[in-house]
Amino acid sequence: MADVLDYKCPFCGGKMEFDTALQKMKCPYCDSTLEMSEMEGKDAVLDTDASASDDSAHAGPTQDSIDFDIENGASWTDAQGMAVFTCNSCGGEIISDENTVATACPFCGNPVVLTSRVSGMLKPEYVIPFKLDKAAAKKRLADYVKSKRFAPGAFRSENKLEEIKGIYVPYWLFDSDVDAAATFAATRVRHWSDSKFDYTETSFYDISRAGSMRFENIPVDGSTKMPDDLMESIEPFNFGDAVDFQTAYLSGFLADKYDVSKEASLPRATERLKVSTGEALRSTVQGYATVTEKSSFVNTRNGRSKYALYPVWLLNTSYRGKKYTFAMNGQTGKLIGDLPASPGKLAALFGSVTAGVTAAAFLIGLMIGFF
Ligand SMILES: [Zn+2]
Ligand SMILES: [Zn+2]
Repeated sequence: MADVLDYKCPFCGGKMEFDTALQKMKCPYCDSTLEMSEMEGKDAVLDTDASASDDSAHAGPTQDSIDFDIENGASWTDAQGMAVFTCNSCGGEIISDENTVATACPFCGNPVVLTSRVSGMLKPEYVIPFKLDKAAAKKRLADYVKSKRFAPGAFRSENKLEEIKGIYVPYWLFDSDVDAAATFAATRVRHWSDSKFDYTETSFYDISRAGSMRFENIPVDGSTKMPDDLMESIEPFNFGDAVDFQTAYLSGFLADKYDVSKEASLPRATERLKVSTGEALRSTVQGYATVTEKSSFVNTRNGRSKYALYPVWLLNTSYRGKKYTFAMNGQTGKLIGDLPASPGKLAALFGSVTAGVTAAAFLIGLMIGFF
């Protein structure tokens, strides 16, 4: 059973990659294209590979992997959490960390997918294919840097921009029905005057709101490598573009499998759901001078999770000992990150990275009852 998948061009033998503009497979050598549906047969291996449901590096032994046993019996691959695969094209060794799903052969550059990391239990249900290619990502970042007068020249260089990488990030998506209620204390204030006095009248209100909502596809990134707040800042992703997972979409990009379980991701989804629910109820209390929430109640029903890969362009760089990360939504082009500024000048910070919640992105069907 092949553990390394690649996508050979039927016309010239070159390795085909997913083309973002065409949303098809394209051969970079002879420009031939194939529909994604023509690649489906490649993935039969994912459902039959029972051994692959265990994701640890030493539990997915394969004919292709090379054993690095050393004197004490512990294997190098175990110790490092690394695994070695053999390139189908050139026979070179592809060394990957234990979460790598898609990468390129370091010797011949051929794009490969490591099937044991997306087989069985590890197979994603959906993928949102990249819509923006590397050239588009570089241009957006270059335009951004150019617009910042204080950005150091080091960030403007073509070499630096070249390091931007297209990565499919593993996400858990949660659905849930929610019943919620909240009470608020509010005031209205009226001012008027006559010839002798100024008057102020304050009215006090007790307000109740209750309703049911449905949340769909609340995303929580399932990779410890990706900072949660950064990933939330490039939301929303439009799940309407998601397609059934197929490894061919990964060809030419990097991809990681999840290393945070859905159970471990659930609290973050729950927190986002609670915050969004609270904001939705609060948003219906309008026309008061002050509003204070007194109590709230949230109950969830019919929870469900899905596993999907979402497209992100990422550039990690360092400048004077500090790390900077730029991330761009590979579907919408939304860009987030920060730039160092010359000392003493205003920080050229953009799109501040917060743990904020984009309620509108996944809030479906809000029904509020007034009473
Ligand atoms: Zn070709
Ligand atoms: Zn190779």
